[in-house]
Amino acid sequence: MSALQEKFKRLKAAMPSILEFAPGEMIQKTETEYYGSLCPFCGQGKDRFLAWPNAGRFWCRKCGQGGDVIDLAMKVRGVESGDLMKTYLNE
Ligand SMILES: [Zn+2]
Repeated sequence: MSALQEKFKRLKAAMPSILEFAPGEMIQKTETEYYGSLCPFCGQGKDRFLAWPNAGRFWCRKCGQGGDVIDLAMKVRGVESGDLMKTYLNE
């Protein structure tokens, strides 16, 4: 693992749950480990946008946007990965 990959791994571990970065209210799906809401990217549906807090991943069934907690935080808050490192790793 490169130094940069190591840094991203530490950042992911330091960040709060992916649900904290979802702009809409996330509804937990019964008997599953994922949450659904309106998609912040395409604005479609009530539960097209899915997030798995345990895995720290998200994905929209409609527009296909997906990724990890870092990707979601950058897209939703309009920040760079360097900003997240400053906030959560003090680096
Ligand atoms: Zn979408």
